[in-house]
Amino acid sequence: MSSLLRKQLTEHVYAAEQTRLGTGWSNSGLVAAGGGLVIDSLYDVKLTRELAGLYAEVFPSAPATIVNTHHNGDHCWGNQVFVGAEIIAHTGCAKRFSDFTPERAEMIRTMVDPPESMRSIHEEWADFDFSDVVLTPPTTVISTDHVLDLDGVRVDLLYVGPAHTEGDLIVHVPDEGVVLMGDVLFNKCAPIGWEGSTENWIAALRRVEELEPQFVVPGHGPVCDLEGLREARRYFEAVQSHARQSWSEGRSVLDCCAGIDLGPWVTWDEPWRLAATVHRVYRECDGAAWNTPFDAGVVMADVEELRRRLEG
Ligand SMILES: [Zn+2]
Repeated sequence: MSSLLRKQLTEHVYAAEQTRLGTGWSNSGLVAAGGGLVIDSLYDVKLTRELAGLYAEVFPSAPATIVNTHHNGDHCWGNQVFVGAEIIAHTGCAKRFSDFTPERAEMIRTMVDPPESMRSIHEEWADFDFSDVVLTPPTTVISTDHVLDLDGVRVDLLYVGPAHTEGDLIVHVPDEGVVLMGDVLFNKCAPIGWEGSTENWIAALRRVEELEPQFVVPGHGPVCDLEGLREARRYFEAVQSHARQSWSEGRSVLDCCAGIDLGPWVTWDEPWRLAATVHRVYRECDGAAWNTPFDAGVVMADVEELRRRLEG
């Protein structure tokens, strides 16, 4: 059964929205003008073929261009489906494109008896298939904002990183009031970031709020509007403020999480990712730069522990 829903937002812009939440179930978009522009492929080949089929029903020719909003596999591992397309991404996406490979993901996914630290991700990846993913990297690498003209439909690629990752691009179709966010926006699910900073993430959301879009397509979660952006920014501001205080009091990350009132965000999917955001703020309080390497194993162990506590 299809996990994707195609939604026409405006004359030229479509969103492909996942009906499933959770790790790797990401959204995509299509600007059906000029040679056709796809914003993000999906996590595996089968899913991306399904996506391409949905787009072909409204835009019959093979899309000429793909934008990858960032390097995480759930936004670019299906690139090979769009044979011959120009693939545009930021330099921060291109240089990290092979940091984590489909081969490694498939190894974890198919483990017979995964270690405790990999059990969650092993389960969450059960319905994907990375075995035939061939990494298909960007062919056009940009280092700043960039404008595309799709036969009169203007599309702005705006660099807002390093926020969720180093190479975060968002895609703005100004004349139609649509912004496609990649993972700079998780809507109705808790965000998680890798390299980047909390300050930059808040600034990125503010920058997009100022564009006053009518439709906002998040990387994960349902299509929303300006309020979805504001809600995500308020979450970061609240967590940042609380975590700074807890850091100054010498509390552990999990202690800090226990003291945060999730208020309006309590119904968000995967609320335990809060621990990763607190870890990031703690690193920033320690003076770490946005690209300082960190032990993801330690961060994810706290995320898992918070999950156990929240699920009781
Ligand atoms: Zn994602």
